[in-house]
Amino acid sequence: MKITIIGAGPGGYEAAIMAAKLGAEVTIVEKKMVGGTCLNIGCIPTKALLASADVLTTSLEAEKFGVSNDHTTVDLKLIIERKDKLVSGLVKGIEFLFESNGVNLVRGIGKLIDSKTVEVKRHDGGVETLVSDKILLATGSVPVCPEMFHYDGKKVITSTEALALKTPPKSMIVVGGGVIGCELGQFFSRLGTQITIVEMADQILNIEDESVAKQLLRQFKREKTKVFTASGVTDVNVQDSGVEVTLTNGKILAAEMMMLSIGRASYSEGLNLEKLGIKVDHQGHIKVDEKLETSVKGIYAVGDLINTPFLAHIASKEGIIAAENMLGKNKSGVHKAIPRCVYTDPQVAAVGLTEKEAQQRGINYKTGSFDFRSLGKAQIIGKIQGQVKIIVNEQDVIIGASIIGPEATDLLAELTMAVHFGLTTEALGDVIHPHPTLSEAIMEALHDVHGMSINKVSLRL
Ligand code: FAD
Repeated sequence: MKITIIGAGPGGYEAAIMAAKLGAEVTIVEKKMVGGTCLNIGCIPTKALLASADVLTTSLEAEKFGVSNDHTTVDLKLIIERKDKLVSGLVKGIEFLFESNGVNLVRGIGKLIDSKTVEVKRHDGGVETLVSDKILLATGSVPVCPEMFHYDGKKVITSTEALALKTPPKSMIVVGGGVIGCELGQFFSRLGTQITIVEMADQILNIEDESVAKQLLRQFKREKTKVFTASGVTDVNVQDSGVEVTLTNGKILAAEMMMLSIGRASYSEGLNLEKLGIKVDHQGHIKVDEKLETSVKGIYAVGDLINTPFLAHIASKEGIIAAENMLGKNKSGVHKAIPRCVYTDPQVAAVGLTEKEAQQRGINYKTGSFDFRSLGKAQIIGKIQGQVKIIVNEQDVIIGASIIGPEATDLLAELTMAVHFGLTTEALGDVIHPHPTLSEAIMEALHDVHGMSINKVSLRL
């Protein structure tokens, strides 16, 4: 079986390796960098920057732990250098995996000719025609930059340029208070930039639990970040001195720079979708069936290119499922539990339904919660802010969970498993959790659903 894949982000590269492991002859075409958005300008670089901000915060708080540190300084140039080194190491790692699994990497721009043929305009000037049995499209997404924002990559930037700045701007307006806006906004704020976040919805992290968004907002305010919710942008004026932004309420904000983080759009430019009759929805996502096959037999699509959450772990899971299906398996691309993570400080992580969604669906639900401040481990590491919240249905099945607090993104795995397998709080709450660990907050929140948390402070007046 011969397979050609266009795009070597997490969707494409994991599909390539899985297909090769299953015995296919695989060629993958990449026009920029192996690893795609995630590895080069997304997940990994943002988290590398935030890791530096964490070290800075820890260093500034060292005295609380009995360690003196009088000379904390920060150099964005060095932070960016560390990030670049880390990224290039990981890119080489994937290239090595291609080599060791016998995946053929072609560097160039791929386009569909027919349902079996991809033509590649190679970076070395040559043109290559790849004929295969099955084709996978994994060309990802690009930032949304409507014209009215006057994106120029200098004063008006996206996350891509923000990840390469060598000096922190004095001030920055962040348009869009979603995951990317909150993460990068907080990073620059910790480096001394005056950040103003403008969000159209009623809360930052619009899809997350209201109480979680409120707690993060309180933290931002403590750090002197200004946040305008329920505010759209009506006008943007770019001058030599900076950027002026007019909000829907008439207020005018000014800053040295503006970062746009209002969303991303599927990227299929030049693929020749119309010619082949591959159907897309009104937002430009390629339509796929449950097996991730497009409207043209033998051509599959995954990741940010289709209408599933734009997340690296979804892209890679779909890449694996598509590879398996191309090679004769019958796997479903419908996801039972999708973990959502935000790497701010405190971190936010959630899976399944929020309380509001449970209400909107008319579910008779119950919740349990536990504050980190009541936990030994949280006190030990000095990170007591936040809580775990669990949502269950009438049958005690865990249908949602939100965590805000230390290591929330790692803690979420247990609750993702619970939602995936439809576990009850009784079953999961029976599991012994090690002490002292942050995972005890999950156990206590599970017990709290039935009012049985031993360590929860509840005032009965
Ligand atoms: P991509 O990673 O976008 O890869 C597509 C690849 O296709 C690219 O390399 C592109 O060059 C290539 N390509 C496009 N057209 C062609 C063509 N015609 N020929 C050849 N090659 C082509 N997700 C998370 O889960 N966790 C996070 O913490 C997280 N943080 C993020 C932070 C930022 C700032 C951003 C921007 C995104 C973040 N994401 C995160 C989202 C994540 O990066 C994407 O969901 C993921 O990369 C999508 O994978 P993909 O394989 O579908 O596409």
